[in-house]
Amino acid sequence: MQLTNRKKEVSFKEQSFAERIYLPAILKGMVITASHLFKKSPTINYPDVKRPIAPVYRGQHVLKRDDAGAERCTSCGMCAVACPAEAITMTSGERKKGEEHLYREEKYAATYEINMLRCIFCGLCEEACPKEAIFLTDRLVDTEFERNDFVYGKDKLVEKMNERIDVTKRQTSAVLEFKKTLGLKHNELFDAQKLNKGKHH
Ligand code: SF4
Ligand code: SF4
Repeated sequence: MQLTNRKKEVSFKEQSFAERIYLPAILKGMVITASHLFKKSPTINYPDVKRPIAPVYRGQHVLKRDDAGAERCTSCGMCAVACPAEAITMTSGERKKGEEHLYREEKYAATYEINMLRCIFCGLCEEACPKEAIFLTDRLVDTEFERNDFVYGKDKLVEKMNERIDVTKRQTSAVLEFKKTLGLKHNELFDAQKLNKGKHH
């Protein structure tokens, strides 16, 4: 059975003199190589020059604060459950009286860690979060020499008050619409028919 049209007849034709001495083939190769000298180099001088990236690029995470500066994360664990790489771990704390300005809800993440070596930057944690607390950003994860340094804690993840990170570009109308849709599994493309089918069961 023929699977593709890529069949090629093998030729047993005897090689010509030019083919046997390889010289024309070598010259042809050198011309191709030399022609690249005059083409624009595809490499860029990173980190001095940075490639333009999409506004929805999925880079290093941020744990957002609300407008008043309180941490939005309530340590519900949804992001950790959604994470296919098992990169997220956390422990919960209970907000004490007088800490309302620090934590938005009564339960908060006392510790929160993401192992950036495990993370595959799929964005499922962002989609799973019911509190709009975690977002991926256009920042690149730094290079490190030690594996442990890739485990980012709250010190690196929580947004700094004096360096607020704008995530509105990630919340396109399609994303906001998606998040309104109860009953859809995370990261599943919007399929109204499928959803309606689900409702009948
Ligand atoms: S981006 Fe994906 S792999 Fe990385 S922490 Fe979030 S869910 Fe896990
Ligand atoms: S980041 Fe969001 S999903 Fe993850 S624990 Fe915090 S509130 Fe829950």
